[in-house]
Amino acid sequence: MTHRVGIGFDIHRLVEGRACVLGGVQLPHPSGPLGHSDGDAVLHAVCDALLGAAGLDDLGTLFSDKDPRWKDADSAHLLGECVARVRAEGWRIANVDIVIATEGPRIAPQRAAMRARIGALLGIDAQAVNVKGKSLEGLGALAGGTGVAVQAVCMIVR
Ligand code: MG
Repeated sequence: MTHRVGIGFDIHRLVEGRACVLGGVQLPHPSGPLGHSDGDAVLHAVCDALLGAAGLDDLGTLFSDKDPRWKDADSAHLLGECVARVRAEGWRIANVDIVIATEGPRIAPQRAAMRARIGALLGIDAQAVNVKGKSLEGLGALAGGTGVAVQAVCMIVR
């Protein structure tokens, strides 16, 4: 059996008047990720982890932010496409682990919902999806809730 790991990173500004969709869950927060798609940095990082592990093109190559087809796209749909491509290569997703660094929306109250939603999108048990929120300790450009940065790792097996 072959195991591979993948890593994904994404960062988006948080701006007023945008729905705050992260990890496929709409969070109660007055600002949301700015982006060509819905800006779901969590799902984007997961996409790139999966694609990276499978040795496929990255998310920005597959779904260009210059392409009007992906304007305001639901990132759950983009993730579904990535999962299909990874599965088409014969891979099974073993687990995903995610760190969300932000001083915007509170992540802890949404962890269970995000794990369940991401697990459903990946076709794996929520127990195999972990989500952790991290404060930025008031440091750097993302301090004060101006943005959200996400790291994701995954393991795939075939
Ligand atoms: Mg993104």
